Amino acid sequence: MESTPEHDRRQWIDAGRRDRVVRAATTAGLVGARHAAAGFLDVDGVRRTVAGLHAAFGPDVPVLHTFAAKAAALVPVLRLVADAGMGCEAASPGELALARAAGVPADRIVLDSPAKTAAELARAVDLGIAVNADNLQELERIAALPALGRSGSVLGLRVNPQVGTGTIGAMSTASAQSKFGVPLRDPGARERVLDAFGRYPWLSRLHVHVGSQGCSLDLIASGVRATWELAEEINRRAGRRQVDSLDLGGGLPVNFDDDEVRPTFAAYAAHLRAAVPALFAGRYALVTEFGRSVVAKNGFTAARVEYTKEVGGRRIALTHAGAHLATRTVFMPEAWPLRVGVHRPDGTRREGPEEIQDVAGPCCFSGDVVARGRALPRIEPGDLVVLHDTGGYYTSAPWAYNSLARPAVHGFSTAGGPVRFATIRPEQTLAEIAAESGAAHADALTALTAGGPGT
Ligand SMILES: *Cc1c(COP(=O)(O)O)cnc(C)c1O
Repeated sequence: MESTPEHDRRQWIDAGRRDRVVRAATTAGLVGARHAAAGFLDVDGVRRTVAGLHAAFGPDVPVLHTFAAKAAALVPVLRLVADAGMGCEAASPGELALARAAGVPADRIVLDSPAKTAAELARAVDLGIAVNADNLQELERIAALPALGRSGSVLGLRVNPQVGTGTIGAMSTASAQSKFGVPLRDPGARERVLDAFGRYPWLSRLHVHVGSQGCSLDLIASGVRATWELAEEINRRAGRRQVDSLDLGGGLPVNFDDDEVRPTFAAYAAHLRAAVPALFAGRYALVTEFGRSVVAKNGFTAARVEYTKEVGGRRIALTHAGAHLATRTVFMPEAWPLRVGVHRPDGTRREGPEEIQDVAGPCCFSGDVVARGRALPRIEPGDLVVLHDTGGYYTSAPWAYNSLARPAVHGFSTAGGPVRFATIRPEQTLAEIAAESGAAHADALTALTAGGPGT
């Protein structure tokens, strides 16, 4: 069934390109002696990936592809994907602010926050941003908004087709007890959804997001099919095409095992075409919301090795790649393993005999290990470890534990020959860490109790 051209299955950044970029990054001083860690994003690769997404759906289907901001919540990245033709999916007021800062037009933004406040809803409807309500209580809030009648917002309802769980429970959005959306298979739930569409004629979209990592294309397609069937039922009852667009969510899993892109967007589109042929007939406008599949394989993280030691017969590298920039991998190593490359201080890759080693991070807890018992070339102090496929949800979403500096993220391009870099976000400074940790309020607590303990 997969008609993917060979070049779509190869990720743009393969071993040779990655090595070249790591060497250029060390030469430029972006990681090494002065900077303990940094994230890198392949700008050529992202453009190529987005072009592949557009090609997969073809020119005949009206579709707005949005980028899920949380996968790389960085303004220049949102602007890049917008420039490449995508809109933006925002799931919080902060992500909406980033989308606005990136210049994404209101009619190309979709707001999906799971727990939208009244103020957040009012603002979105004022701006004309599409909103997917998570539940029926939220619909009532929207119905009460004074601006509703004059808003250009497309308003939808997120449903949970309860089609099942992928291999990672915490990443499964369409399980029987998922917190997201209105369940369709619970007793009476479908009827309540149909009633809501009858009561609110301004509701015109259904939203479903069956994902993410660990979900099969079959599972995703069955969720989309159930949603399309519901749309048809709503429209039959309404006697008009009340639902005229479907937001299919994102959630395409990413292969973290090697340099191949699988599944591809072409495979995803082919799967949908087979499972729900009517989807591509043009009767429904479509929205997609892809995050990790756009950026994950277009990025890597490089971090300096500070020391090495032998402990209990195991060699451990103490590096600056830890839970602060690979949080999921450290806490759920079975679900989120990452490939690791070892490079010399000048950026060239070490090959040759491998030893079983641990790659540990700088955080003060013993579980801070990004790769355990891994066969790797012998790691030496001053080397760099490179975590592959971290373009989404990793360096861009750091964790402030231990007040470790948020690493820089750099974009790179080789269009035109040499590797060129652009800073997406600089490394956090120590002054910024202190400021964000309440430095301006240093005496707040001592002043509160200056007269002695309260009564
Ligand atoms: C996170 C999220 C996405 C993107 O998921 P990926 O797995 O990164 O593609 C899309 N839609 C919604 C509603 C999300 O919460």
